[in-house]
Amino acid sequence: MNLRPRSVRMRLTLWHSAVLTLIVCAFSAGIFFFVRVRLFDDLDAYLKRDLSTVEATYREGPTELFEAETRSGVKLFEVTEGQSPLYRTDLWAQAGLDLAGGSGHPALMSWRSPKDDKTYRVLVAPHSTHRIAVAADESTIRRTLWTLGAILALGIPFAMALAVAGGWFLAGRVLAPVGAMADQARRISADSLAARLPVENPHDEFGRLATVFNETLARLEDSFERLRRFTADASHELRTPLTAMRSVGEVALHASVEPAVYRDVIGSMLEEVERLTALVESLLTLTRMDSQRLQLSREVVDLRTIAVSAAEHLRVLAEEKNQTLRVESDGPIEVNCDPALLRQGVVNLVDNAIKYTQAKGHIRVAVTRHASGEAVIEVEDDGPGIASAHQGRIFERFYRIDPARSRNDGGLGLGLAIARSTVEANGGRIEVESQIGRGTTFRVLLPSRS
Ligand code: ADP
Repeated sequence: MNLRPRSVRMRLTLWHSAVLTLIVCAFSAGIFFFVRVRLFDDLDAYLKRDLSTVEATYREGPTELFEAETRSGVKLFEVTEGQSPLYRTDLWAQAGLDLAGGSGHPALMSWRSPKDDKTYRVLVAPHSTHRIAVAADESTIRRTLWTLGAILALGIPFAMALAVAGGWFLAGRVLAPVGAMADQARRISADSLAARLPVENPHDEFGRLATVFNETLARLEDSFERLRRFTADASHELRTPLTAMRSVGEVALHASVEPAVYRDVIGSMLEEVERLTALVESLLTLTRMDSQRLQLSREVVDLRTIAVSAAEHLRVLAEEKNQTLRVESDGPIEVNCDPALLRQGVVNLVDNAIKYTQAKGHIRVAVTRHASGEAVIEVEDDGPGIASAHQGRIFERFYRIDPARSRNDGGLGLGLAIARSTVEANGGRIEVESQIGRGTTFRVLLPSRS
């Protein structure tokens, strides 16, 4: 059977009360014993004073002992010589104090008188010829101690009740933000990711927890939003070629049946299919990279090989536009990367440079090493440039500066998004530097081989 209370509030209250009760008990016991020791010490000191008085008087002359009682006020003492009492005060006789026998050693003891039912503190000092015993009534001390004990004993349950009530109240107050957080968290669903947990004090533990949770929510919201946008954009992009194919097909169906016309129709349909295939492939690449299911096959390669291969792959396109396409390098620059993936990113950059640079333009692919040790591939063109307002967004999926123009050029708005993902998958980053009318430079920076 599990006796552990389920609620944290209850657990905190019980712990708090138990610890507080323990402290109060220990403190009460401490007070009680301290007071008791002090009171008895005082009484014993008083008895020792009386004993010295009686002893001094005895030394002056045993017959003077009554003076100790009358002049010095020692009211309870007895002096015996051998077995017979030499002097005994009236109060001693009344109390019926009987110390017959004795150990022969000095002794301090409490003695309960059967006569008056009082307890006496007795100090006995045996000597070779005589024995002196002094006593004092300790019932006042006992009464005081009893009252103190009663007060403390009654105070403990009272303190316990206060501890429970206080603990319950305090735990309730301390845990209130958790309740509010739980209520709010319960209301948050995929459709209300914009909601946030209440943060009463961002610097305390619960505040920090709520802040961390809110940051997670913000990231989730951002991912959901991007996913939603991506799905909407992808559907839109898929619909365009499909609509085109459908209208071309419909027109052909209702128009003449000339084989040449059919050939044209099939040709343009195939173009759209090509577009669709490219789009689906790009989407697949991005999705695989997003889900990080892409298996990287890393190896040490010379970056120049990748740059040359990408440039040669697209040279024919540059030649069609009478552009110059040069690859430059400082020498071999080795990096540890997935060459096929990285090449895909570089191909996209070079493809863009060719696509967006005017005929007879110049494109330069440079492989260098930064002073920091990073390996760099720069794709530079003297094309139209990218306005700074767009520079922050061109890496977003489906983002095109001039949608009409880039669609005609076959652009899907995914080229740079894929380039960035391939570079990041290889542990690098990508930067853009551009000036309207002067050209654009895309810079891929990869960690140095270590
Ligand atoms: P797209 O498939 O449309 O080329 P990208 O993601 O590759 O999509 O590029 C996004 C946008 O950035 C393009 O629409 C284009 O306007 C702009 N862009 C990319 N590269 C260059 C470049 N070298 N010069 C000028 N504009 C560029």
